[in-house]
Amino acid sequence: VKSGRNPNETSDSRLSRNGLVVLYTGEGKGKTTAALGLALRACGHGRRVLMVCFMKGNFRVGEIRAVENLPGFTLVLSGRSEFVDKRDPDPRDIHIAREGLKQAGEAVEKGNIDLLILDEAHVALDYGLLDLQDILNLIEIKPPEMDLILTGRNAPVELVKRADLVSEVLNIKHPFQKGIPAQAGIDF
Ligand code: ATP
Ligand code: MG
Repeated sequence: VKSGRNPNETSDSRLSRNGLVVLYTGEGKGKTTAALGLALRACGHGRRVLMVCFMKGNFRVGEIRAVENLPGFTLVLSGRSEFVDKRDPDPRDIHIAREGLKQAGEAVEKGNIDLLILDEAHVALDYGLLDLQDILNLIEIKPPEMDLILTGRNAPVELVKRADLVSEVLNIKHPFQKGIPAQAGIDF
């Protein structure tokens, strides 16, 4: 995590901070991009952002290159490019997901970040890569002014109860349904 404050820090950014736990879930497209939108907004206020992307190891995603030029934004891909087998996840998938969560926990404990995004955390929980208790502990230890965003389908009810803001994205239609493949800049 890049150290020091962000040169963009605005006077608004430290006023009466009420750190929120935000969940983006549902079957529709837009959960990860909603989290990236808030990260961009936070960066504009000089808030330091750490985004850990579980189950993603694909360096083609546009955001990985875009954030290189954004002060205060650190993005970590905490997955492999292979698909994870839900019935029998590879020990390497479990290991890399736990390492990502550990890195996030250390940054939270050090007070190095203002916004933590755990992208696809709900899916990593659903696939047995992460433990719910570890996420609940992170929520407990986080500084009150720090924001935490979790994304992914099938948010567990325990997190929905604990969160301050929960938005569910509905799938009305998606180009994939008519055979249009993933598009650079829209899907990755
Ligand atoms: P995005 O990263 O684009 O914000 P997301 O985080 O809401 O999407 P995920 O479930 O993480 O959605 O899936 C990521 C990828 O799967 C994206 O390329 C996205 O376009 C595609 N996808 C998301 N929802 C659907 C859907 N309902 N049908 C087909 N493909 C989808
Ligand atoms: Mg996503």
